[in-house]
Amino acid sequence: MKAVVKTQAGPGAELLEVPPRAPGEGEVRVKIDVAAICGSDVHVYDWAPRVAKSGMRLPRIMGHEYCGRVLEVGAGVSNVKPDDLVAGETHLPCGNCYVCHLGKPHICLNLKIVGRDTDGCFAEEMVVPAAGVFRMPDDFPPDAAAVLEPLGCGVRPLFNEDVAGSTVVVLGAGPIGLFAIAGARALGAIQVIATNRSQLRLDLAAAMGATTCLSPEREDVVQAVRGLTHGVGADLVLDSSGNAEAFRQGVQMLRKGGTLLVIGMPSQPVQLELGPDLCLKEATIRGFHGREMYRTWEKVVPLVQRGAIPTAPVVTHKLPLSEFAAGFAAAAERRAGKVLLVP
Ligand SMILES: [Zn+2]
Ligand SMILES: [Zn+2]
Repeated sequence: MKAVVKTQAGPGAELLEVPPRAPGEGEVRVKIDVAAICGSDVHVYDWAPRVAKSGMRLPRIMGHEYCGRVLEVGAGVSNVKPDDLVAGETHLPCGNCYVCHLGKPHICLNLKIVGRDTDGCFAEEMVVPAAGVFRMPDDFPPDAAAVLEPLGCGVRPLFNEDVAGSTVVVLGAGPIGLFAIAGARALGAIQVIATNRSQLRLDLAAAMGATTCLSPEREDVVQAVRGLTHGVGADLVLDSSGNAEAFRQGVQMLRKGGTLLVIGMPSQPVQLELGPDLCLKEATIRGFHGREMYRTWEKVVPLVQRGAIPTAPVVTHKLPLSEFAAGFAAAAERRAGKVLLVP
């Protein structure tokens, strides 16, 4: 089968012919219908310093966002059967550590990641531990299923917040931020303010339901948010930007008693003044790593299925797997929303 393989510790990847394999105990073999490029795949492709330091072993078939059909299951697999439609959960927990036992397997102490610690989905087929597949309704559109993993990242932080009637600011309008915007609207936010430097992405933000789109290059976004909230500040700020300066601004535009939800991972340290920014404000800052297994999936599937969260505006590119290099270029230069690859 054809597969996009990271072969060397440096930029790029190769399309290679590799032998498919049968699933072992606890594994599932999936025929990939469509896969999607994640921001974290771009970091692996470019061999960013964070990835270089991570000890990732090569060669490795890349990718972790996909929709496919189960071809075969190994011994002991009970969550799916052959011919089931499935989408990809990226976290592979051990199931036996202290944190898994506390009911939070997505932040397992021995966490493995599909496409990093195991071979991934940028291929005609993949074999993955059963925890890495989530069974989808059979009529669920494959292109939407392929992006449910980042969609879940964007929407999950909102599920435990008082979103209805609130003003939500989403910093960064990459795919995860775009899904967060639609999620905030679906959960009843009265005002969703998006920020991004790219006009293309602000246009996508508007298509996903943002009520106001702000460019930090053109205006003072903190003042703009204060203006839009009668000087009070935003109830919720969700940072998907991974940008230290945007994060600082997010803290400043948060109202007293507000909550900052953090998904983006800045490559630089972020400075906070804990007195005014946290204590005097009684602010809450919460970090998120992906989706809850599998609460997030159960909650987002019907939201997408019933049209409350659209996915089509976010998908800007659909390319054959052989054109993966063009796909990575588009994703890296932020000319794209989501880039799909079809094996
Ligand atoms: Zn992803
Ligand atoms: Zn564990």
